[in-house]
Amino acid sequence: MSNHRRPARDNTYRNRYLHSGAWYARRDRWFLDEQHRNGDIRCALCLAAGSARNLELHHLDYRGVAQTPYGWTAHERHEDLTALHPRCHEYVHLLIDRDRALSGFVSRRTASIQAIARLQAKIAHYIEASLDQQ
Ligand SMILES: [Zn+2]
Ligand SMILES: [Zn+2]
Repeated sequence: MSNHRRPARDNTYRNRYLHSGAWYARRDRWFLDEQHRNGDIRCALCLAAGSARNLELHHLDYRGVAQTPYGWTAHERHEDLTALHPRCHEYVHLLIDRDRALSGFVSRRTASIQAIARLQAKIAHYIEASLDQQ
């Protein structure tokens, strides 16, 4: 049962974390590290280049996050986070939430990767269809 959709309490916990100073600092460091590793920062869905100003970070894994009596610890590995435009991020969450298989039976990382791949296939299909019409 551990992979099933978590109760609302868990979302509240994550939402509080995502407004913490520990997360803001972790987020800033991710963008610096990504820039350093890859030379540029791209949206994982549409692949357009962006920056900390127009990209959000999506958690592939919340394992590094914990609450202690002294505050939050933000020990996500670099690979546990991925950059997305706010709009692209929304699409990924919508697809995961709507798809029972993605939301209930696989890890968050697998669900996210599958959702992004499916959305990219849709985008490619849409582009091909619109080129055919010209
Ligand atoms: Zn995008
Ligand atoms: Zn997300």
